[in-house]
Amino acid sequence: MVNSLYIHIPFCRKKCFYCNFYSIKPDVEIVSAYIKALCRQINESSGKFSTVYVGGGTPTVLNLKLWQELLTSVEKKCGNIEEYTIEANPESFNARQAELFLDKGVNRLSLGFQSFNDVKLKKLGRIHSANQALEAFALARRSGFKNINVDLIFGTEAETLEDWEKELSLAIKISPEHISLYGLSYEKNTPLYSEFKESRITPLDEALVGRMYTYALGRLPRAGFLQYEVSNFAKKGFLCRHNMNYWRNGSYLGFGPSAVSYLNGRRMLNISDVKEYIKQLDNNRGVVIRQEKLSRIRRAKETAAIKIRTKEGIDFSWFKQATGIDFMNLESKAINELIEGGLIRYKRSGGAYKGVCLSRKGFLFCDSVSSSLL
Ligand code: SF4
Repeated sequence: MVNSLYIHIPFCRKKCFYCNFYSIKPDVEIVSAYIKALCRQINESSGKFSTVYVGGGTPTVLNLKLWQELLTSVEKKCGNIEEYTIEANPESFNARQAELFLDKGVNRLSLGFQSFNDVKLKKLGRIHSANQALEAFALARRSGFKNINVDLIFGTEAETLEDWEKELSLAIKISPEHISLYGLSYEKNTPLYSEFKESRITPLDEALVGRMYTYALGRLPRAGFLQYEVSNFAKKGFLCRHNMNYWRNGSYLGFGPSAVSYLNGRRMLNISDVKEYIKQLDNNRGVVIRQEKLSRIRRAKETAAIKIRTKEGIDFSWFKQATGIDFMNLESKAINELIEGGLIRYKRSGGAYKGVCLSRKGFLFCDSVSSSLL
């Protein structure tokens, strides 16, 4: 069974300076043709998903009529979905959308705030203000959403630890159920990267970025947000199941241009062009542009590299059951080095080693830990 469905809405009114995800400006005709094609694709799917996530891009640029079409297709095909998330941006989220989402069974909202500071929002190229973000949150609550995530970015140019502390305090004060934090990265093919290359931006000192992250690791749990993955914190009972499925290397389907699916050890990448995507579906042709069948060892190594990012880490018995491979036989060399470097530690049960997980230091260098396990 496929556990999860991801639906990509690849439209943004304006590209944020740091973003290298695939999205284009919403053209009325293209958006409408895309949603129609997507609905046909949903109707032809197996329809058995425990989680559905509609992300982007900016899903909330869709008008109400298109939302009706899309959510009705999902409702008819998938029925009861345990966790059903939609991403919303403050400038385009509105009360009628909120009402429709709830009516169609959506039970989780992920708000793309990134910051509560207008200067920082401008630097990031966001098109909403801090006030709009707060209003969007209040609207979501008033409408009846009981499970809300907010996304925040830290480490922008000239940001101070005090700035970041204030933002985290405000996030805690409005009391969402879930907070995701991302350190700003300078991705190739973004305006931010060009500015950096042309020395018009000075990235924040890495040690300060590390202190900002470490501050969040201490501050959020004290406020009742338990860390369960490198970037993710949730109140009790509000872990994102959709993402947990990714981190357990479970199967998922991805609909939409540039979306990825992972099924029976096969990874498939969709065409990264909306018009081409629509054309292929209209002509009853496939939308996968590249696929790769992973060997048993490769699957196991990828499972290790992803799952280590979770707070619970990797239990040896879970790993054996999930991949059929003994974790320590597979990764002994890397594990010894990572233990010596203080990046991971053993988990014990009754004196015996039962698994491994990231240390405090390991959370700061999680990308290199993951790479060593691949
Ligand atoms: S960060 Fe989100 S809203 Fe901004 S361009 Fe990327 S996908 Fe669009």
